[in-house]
Amino acid sequence: MSFKDLRSFLEFLDSRGRLIRIHEEVEPKFGIARIERKYDGQAAIWLERVKGYDIPVVANIFHSRQAVAEALGANIKELSEKIIKAARNPVKVKEVNSGPVKEVIANEVDLMNMFPIPMHFEKDAGYYITGGIIIAKDIETGVRNLSFARMWIKGKRKIGIMVNHYRHLLRLFEKAEKKGKPLDVAIVIGVDPITWLEGGMPDRIVPLEIDELEVANSLMNGGLEVVKAETVDVEIPVLAEIAIEGKMVPEEREFEGPFGDYSQVYDTPPRKNPIIEVTGITHRQNPIYLDCLPSSVENFLLGGIPREADLLDHVKKAVPNVNHVHLTVGSCCRFHAVVQMEKKFETDPHKAIIAMFSPSEASRDLKLVIVVDNDIDPFDPKDVEWAIATRTQWDLDLVVLPKMATALDPSAKWRTPSSIRDRGDIYTTKVGLDATIPFEKPELFEWFQKIRIPDGK
Ligand code: MN
Repeated sequence: MSFKDLRSFLEFLDSRGRLIRIHEEVEPKFGIARIERKYDGQAAIWLERVKGYDIPVVANIFHSRQAVAEALGANIKELSEKIIKAARNPVKVKEVNSGPVKEVIANEVDLMNMFPIPMHFEKDAGYYITGGIIIAKDIETGVRNLSFARMWIKGKRKIGIMVNHYRHLLRLFEKAEKKGKPLDVAIVIGVDPITWLEGGMPDRIVPLEIDELEVANSLMNGGLEVVKAETVDVEIPVLAEIAIEGKMVPEEREFEGPFGDYSQVYDTPPRKNPIIEVTGITHRQNPIYLDCLPSSVENFLLGGIPREADLLDHVKKAVPNVNHVHLTVGSCCRFHAVVQMEKKFETDPHKAIIAMFSPSEASRDLKLVIVVDNDIDPFDPKDVEWAIATRTQWDLDLVVLPKMATALDPSAKWRTPSSIRDRGDIYTTKVGLDATIPFEKPELFEWFQKIRIPDGK
């Protein structure tokens, strides 16, 4: 089953009893976030009544790894391979002349009042769009990039957007800026679940030369259709709920933040970030506003599942016999990874650890890599801890890498002297742990074998 839009996925979740309708009235300021947190990791929510708006808010659609797997029509252990395959095999997207996202073309643009955009956390700078994906085109090649970024509503037609260094969107913007031009963008809110997940793909697995709408289309088996935006040169999924069109303004930066981030701490102090000037808005009749609560399980999975694919793709180049990479929910699907392999050589685990930490966007936050054998389920925390308990000798099996670049980890910020932080750099100590059965004494191999009950589990 492939879900062509958000609505069909919501129907699916509803049919499985995993969409909770909330009838009580909630405020955009903290009220939406309270309900999102209440059902975090459990079920999707549909907030019918948001004070001051007649547009419902939906969140937590990816409340579990299983929900993501259902959206992609795969089982949990096939997700990475499916994503890697799509990244390598983009499929041209069909362009149509019109469709649902054009049902309403707004006459006036007022982001302060049009949509129930929430303020999530106590110290957030304000109301943020967190579930929208940004579609932008390389001004020279026309290749399209999809990405997530937090977007602060700063005025009726003004958005502050946080874009990280080295990231594709910033590179596209700086390319346009060098020519004195704005970068056209469309922020689409409430797309189909697959395109939404594609928005989370790290830069390494889908380089700038690859069109990300085509990667989304590949994941959707060719079901994606796009339509030209009204006021900017960007194509948008025709079944999106809402499209906000605008231009990233050259040579302008304003302070943005603080913002309660995926890491469950505030990203602060505010930094200078680009501005989007909104040029137009279109949406479906009775649109649904899709939100994503930062630091929710949904936020972790959106960031984590595409990163797992990126890391698996990369680590397999060093150690082809790696089967799975799992970024654990307890570490925000960013900081801790479990690598499962069929060990062929005693040096394979350390090789895999070094490859996992090879600098890239997906490994930036990574701080601990645990390598396990293929009799251990890398997605089962109990099984992984058992492997650590029974197969690790810490002095031999621990790889310590000090002074590695990172970003949001508070302990790294604390550890890095301010003289270094002032230069825009943060470092941390990263570790790898080999929790595989040692090959040194083959005669002891049976000591490590799990006990079994014949014909039992
Ligand atoms: Mn990209």
